[in-house]
Amino acid sequence: MFFAAHPDDAELNCGGTILSLKEAGKKIGIIDLTQGELSTRGNPELRKKETKNASALMQLDFRENLNIRDGNIEINEVNRKKIISAIRKYRPEIIFAPYPFDRHPDHIYAGNLIRESFFYSGLSKIKTGDLKAYRPSKIYYYRNALDIPVSFIIDISSTFKKKLEVIKCFGSQFHNINSKEPQTFISTELFDKEIESRARHFGFKIGTEYGEPFFCYDPLKITGNNLFDL
Ligand SMILES: [Zn+2]
Repeated sequence: MFFAAHPDDAELNCGGTILSLKEAGKKIGIIDLTQGELSTRGNPELRKKETKNASALMQLDFRENLNIRDGNIEINEVNRKKIISAIRKYRPEIIFAPYPFDRHPDHIYAGNLIRESFFYSGLSKIKTGDLKAYRPSKIYYYRNALDIPVSFIIDISSTFKKKLEVIKCFGSQFHNINSKEPQTFISTELFDKEIESRARHFGFKIGTEYGEPFFCYDPLKITGNNLFDL
């Protein structure tokens, strides 16, 4: 299960991983915290349609929006319970969250909110209606605009082209020569090129064409069998 502060964060930063995990037969869902209503380009209605198209292209098993106010992702009990309820409802083996340091404050708050909720979700005395206590085995953090310490890189060579198609679903947000809206950090042609450069940069580090990096606070278990695959 992938948590994202805004609809398109998961696609942009983990799209190849999502598609590769789907290829491997895993059930995948995305939980967006906000509707991205503060975005300079587009509007919530259009963003909803774009999100629906991207979800269909990735063949997601579920997608929800927690309707937290964009630009106001506070770490409080109400928001923690929203995240905890989503974790307890879907009971994912692994969750992904934005790395809690970034250019965009929403990504920082979201990362910390999800990190706390991941832990509290396992405490049975924290009540969320009929949903029982449950804690996933791992939480992995993905990179947004700023570099992160890297624990591992997922090879997305087989799904990178499709990842670009998924990103293109968000025509209001990313580079689009037909758009008359103001340019933003992520809508320039330079950023468009950076998507490929970034994927190549991380792919090169593991000897493949394209990759996506992740961070984990816990040590990762390696066995004698898979040591030679690394
Ligand atoms: Zn975002």
